This record gives sequence, structure tokens and C-alpha cells, in this order.
Amino acid sequence: MMTPQAVGSLPKKRIALVAHDNKKQDLLEWARYNRGLLVEHDLYATGTTGTLLEDALSTSITKLQSGPLGGDQQIGAKIAEGLIDFVIFFWDPLEPQPHDPDVKALLRIAVVWNIPVACNRASADFMISSPLMSSSYERILPNFENHRQRFSGSGA
Ligand code: PGA
Repeated sequence: MMTPQAVGSLPKKRIALVAHDNKKQDLLEWARYNRGLLVEHDLYATGTTGTLLEDALSTSITKLQSGPLGGDQQIGAKIAEGLIDFVIFFWDPLEPQPHDPDVKALLRIAVVWNIPVACNRASADFMISSPLMSSSYERILPNFENHRQRFSGSGA
């Protein structure tokens, strides 16, 4: 049986931001508009997005590799390690990306760990204006123990 468990996040959130090239202006406008809120939190971004955001917000951001060079995977790894609380990911639905498998992997791992993901500006507006932004939040997770134990005792 899958028993849910809760994982807490502090009022100060660890936010990952990513934008594909055709969406970078959108993200920069959104981030400038929400600067006052965003700078209260710990910000992470893929390389180019992070450089542009640092300049636009005049704040320091933990910059990972550029997306096509592994940045999306680094964010996914941080999610699996419990180091990211939510993701703003303005991906481009109208253009294939060289790293499409990484994009899919990031979206998948965010769902696995029940991490909120905003994939467009309206979702980002709803997320950042949530009262949960300024309080701690207990994320419900399925109990993954059954998955981890599935071959134990089978000799596999
Ligand atoms: P970038 O990567 O911020 O380095 O452009 C974003 C992406 O394409 O995933």
C-alpha cells in the first residue's frame, strides 16, 4: 500500500528558473515585475537564463550549465535531492530543442517529486501570488519504499 508522506519547505523557497530562447524576454519581464518577491528567495537558473536574470534583477543567482549543455538535468538532479521547491520553466512549444529529452526529463522528475512547475506566464502569476509563498508548505509524496524494495528478497 502506498502511504503518503509529507516533505516540508521553508517560507524561503528555492526557485529554479529556465526559459527557452524565444521565451527569455517573457521570463525577464515577468521576473522584473515580480522582483520584490523573487529576491526574497534562493534563485537557481540554467546558464544563459541566469546571466540575463542576474542583470535584470541585480541580484545573485546560482547559475548552472546552459540548458542544452546539461543545465536542465542539473535542476532535475537537485529536485531529486530535495534541493528545489518549485520551478518556473517557460519552455517553447513551437520549436524543437536540441535537448528535448532533457526538457521532458525535467518535467517528469518534477511531477515524480510533486514539485510545482509553471510552464507559462499565467501559471507563474498564480504560483507567485499564492499565500503559500510566504509560509511553509508540506508537499505530499507517495511512499516510494515499495518501488525501492520491489526486488528485495527475489534474488535479483
Ligand atoms: P539557457 O538554457 O538558460 O542556458 O538558455 C535554457 C534551456 O534551454 O533549457
